[in-house]
Amino acid sequence: MLIHRRFAGETLNRTATKTEEHQAVPCVSPCSPWLKVCLAVLGMVTLVSCSRGTVTIVVPSQLKTTPSAPSEVPLPDNAPLPHIDAKRAFQYTREVTAFGPRYMGNENHKKLERYILDHLKGDQVEDDAFTADTVEGKFPVRNIIAKFPGAKDGIIVIMGHYDTNYPLRNIGYVGANDGGSSTAILLEFANQLRGKKRDGYSVWLVWTDGEEAVKSWSDTDSLYGTRHLAEKWEKDGTLKKIKALMVMDMIAPTDLAILRDTNSTPWLLDLIYAAAERGGYQSHFYGLQGGEEDDHIPFVKRGVACADVIDVPYGYNDVFHHTPQDTMDKLSPKSLQIVGDTTLETIHLLDQR
Ligand SMILES: [Zn+2]
Repeated sequence: MLIHRRFAGETLNRTATKTEEHQAVPCVSPCSPWLKVCLAVLGMVTLVSCSRGTVTIVVPSQLKTTPSAPSEVPLPDNAPLPHIDAKRAFQYTREVTAFGPRYMGNENHKKLERYILDHLKGDQVEDDAFTADTVEGKFPVRNIIAKFPGAKDGIIVIMGHYDTNYPLRNIGYVGANDGGSSTAILLEFANQLRGKKRDGYSVWLVWTDGEEAVKSWSDTDSLYGTRHLAEKWEKDGTLKKIKALMVMDMIAPTDLAILRDTNSTPWLLDLIYAAAERGGYQSHFYGLQGGEEDDHIPFVKRGVACADVIDVPYGYNDVFHHTPQDTMDKLSPKSLQIVGDTTLETIHLLDQR
């Protein structure tokens, strides 16, 4: 995901310390005049420079989600709160990370594709494979889709990327959180969905490829897999059936703090918050607010209800993000539990809408 939109609690005027390959993108939503005015009027934000490598917005940690209209969040029912097997999800994260750098088309990436498919044996699995023409040459891209049918007409999509960064291929970067945790939690969701009759909507899990830039993040150098998939689903009519789409990205740090992403759909963020509250997890959600560019964007642009579930900054001053320090010791099964349980409960709430 895009690096330059970083938020640091009440620490103002922080300048990003890294010269990230992502920083060439102009600020969009966090710096829009409308947003500046709204947040400034509310007294909730201090605006800082919107140029490259600087933090764009800081929101006090007291800011939580806005309350939903009663109709948006179904009343609690008697269904027990769902739980993922977080130990297993953490073990998946460890195994995925152990493959090493997993950029598009390299040997480790191929091994990981096989690993994902091996864990989906017996499931309904589809490929969305193509060749991306990039500034660094041609790369094979492969989105992997597992479909779990439901009785209701409509689809809930959960996605997370499994690639790591091509520009970081020679520095010992292994992407435990960024790429590892998203791959793993989707595998655990598959375990939870497999073999169960679904009264609600169909759930599709998508391991996305080519999320990361091959050189420098821009509209054309990023999100290769999801830009292709969104276009394909627009053409074949799938997009119209999607009730909600949630992206999992960097969701396992020990000090889990999920950003309220201003590029996401507010009612869906509110539903996720309601689900988190039911598990007693709400303190991990939406203390910070800002706009992220991630795999949801190609779908947001096409009018799909989307939520980016992401924890940024990663480590103090974002020091672990896209560095060799993104390793297993920064992560915790408890965080996977929080995000996993909350996502499953969100699916349950969506099924009732
Ligand atoms: Zn990344």
